[in-house]
Amino acid sequence: MVFSPITAAQVERYDECAFAYFLSQHVHSQSMPMSGFAAEGAWFGRYVHRLFPDDRFVGPDMKNVETLSKEELSKHLNYHSSVAFGNAISGWWKSYIIGGKRVDERTGREIEAPPGVLRARAVEWLYHGQWWHAAARLKRGGVNLYEFFQEEGLPVLTFSSDGGASIGREVAFEHKGKKHLAWIRAIRRGHVIGEYGYRVKTQNALDSDWKVTLALLAYCTLAHEQEAYRIKWAVDARVANRWGGVSMYIDPDVPYRYYDLQHGVVLETRRSDADLPEMLGRLEAAEQAIINSIDRRDFKASPSRSNCGACPYNVRDMSGRTVCDRKYPRVSTLRSMKELKEEEKRKGPKDPNKPNRKRKKYMQASLEI
Ligand code: SF4
Repeated sequence: MVFSPITAAQVERYDECAFAYFLSQHVHSQSMPMSGFAAEGAWFGRYVHRLFPDDRFVGPDMKNVETLSKEELSKHLNYHSSVAFGNAISGWWKSYIIGGKRVDERTGREIEAPPGVLRARAVEWLYHGQWWHAAARLKRGGVNLYEFFQEEGLPVLTFSSDGGASIGREVAFEHKGKKHLAWIRAIRRGHVIGEYGYRVKTQNALDSDWKVTLALLAYCTLAHEQEAYRIKWAVDARVANRWGGVSMYIDPDVPYRYYDLQHGVVLETRRSDADLPEMLGRLEAAEQAIINSIDRRDFKASPSRSNCGACPYNVRDMSGRTVCDRKYPRVSTLRSMKELKEEEKRKGPKDPNKPNRKRKKYMQASLEI
């Protein structure tokens, strides 16, 4: 059997819950409801694109947007302040997802849409009011993202004629004769890479994240091997000539930054060739476990159940059964906004002093743009 390289995202899913990985290979997710956490992440990613201009070159001097100063940037971005952008991103969510009203992009007219539906998929929620907490997080994320852009300038953007500008991309590269696929989420001109994320990370978690090592290896390898990448990423050729195993594979002078959109803080970490064996070993072990399971036709790998509340398979199928039949029994299956509202009405007024445990546990769920 021939396998294409397993992506970092697949290994991450396998690590999180092996059973979720197998479900992802066998269940057509577009026909299932979407979890509220996934809808929130998808919404954020979708509206970030609306912030960027349609073209790389702007203004009478045709300046590259990636090189604009703070003042110039607010003039040329489609929103002129962080608060305006934060309000827009959460306002659209409230009107479309919560209120069921949206604007027809062709006619500009407001049309009714069922609340709690995104991309023709019903959105299901873990607890009552999750949609309002999502609106607040979206606003905070939008404000912080804009402020990061103002402080440091825009990251390297890819413009396409239909989808506008995007930040991240998946890249393929070879390391010692083996092909890998990695996500490089954001690159800044001048030898900096990183990601803008919803996930609240600690410095420790960032320092030990193997995906950071993989992304840095991909960046240094591709910049060393391909002039087109060097030009696009503004990498100095004299520096990149030392990469690719000439003096090193990963340059410890290239920082990886994590832009935490919920708290507006930046964490930074670095890697060197000393971190390669651990990352490669981890990828190899996950690939081997996946291949062995496929060989044994063992599609019922043990679930880890650590993330059932935010898992995309903790939703109901057409017959009303939970897609994952192995979820942790004490975590409830996600439900529609209508059902949760009706239940809330039946229960009557709440004790304001009683903490909402579900909210507390999942309000910092793992979402990334
Ligand atoms: S619901 Fe829980 S056990 Fe099932 S796939 Fe998701 S994380 Fe794994």
